[in-house]
Amino acid sequence: MSQASQMPTDEQWQAIKNNDASYNAKFMYAIKTTGIFCKPSCKSRLPNRENVRIFQDADGAQAAQFRPCKRCKPTGERLPDQEWVELISRFIEKHYSEPIRLRDIADACHGSAFHLQRTFKRIKGITPTEYVQRTRIAKAQQLMNGTNRSIAEIGVAVGMPNTAYFITLFKKMTGSTPSDYRQRGRAGMTNVDAEGSDCQ
Ligand SMILES: [Zn+2]
Repeated sequence: MSQASQMPTDEQWQAIKNNDASYNAKFMYAIKTTGIFCKPSCKSRLPNRENVRIFQDADGAQAAQFRPCKRCKPTGERLPDQEWVELISRFIEKHYSEPIRLRDIADACHGSAFHLQRTFKRIKGITPTEYVQRTRIAKAQQLMNGTNRSIAEIGVAVGMPNTAYFITLFKKMTGSTPSDYRQRGRAGMTNVDAEGSDCQ
């Protein structure tokens, strides 16, 4: 028996689209972009067809390093919360520059928004939204010191196109405004002119 994955046939794709439980014993589908695999009946958001790979069974998908979906539980057991939260964190770290709502995260990571919010907070001590903000501000700090891009441009680059809001949040989380932060970073580099991008 081959464990190799394949692109879905039209019939398999129909089964996935229709959440057809009669196919649950016939194949599992994995989603390349999220690293998760599901039963055909899974009610999670329909992935792009080109990202879907078909496996004969859960063992095949797991052997290929895919993780079982939290919602449809294709192996019958739950993905441990710790691992799930890691998966969510990685999703946020990859998508921080886009407008991401809790629902998008929940959809992509295969859980309800309510459950995701609670589990994440319990394990990380902060909410997913706070984690998005922290990731964005940390990235903005890097850009502030490592580039000459304007404050507004950096805001856009980290997913906060509203400059006023970006400045407010930056100040709230770091204690200084973006321009103060940048100036202090530059003052720290003794005898290097402000245009200098070579901080090494
Ligand atoms: Zn699923």
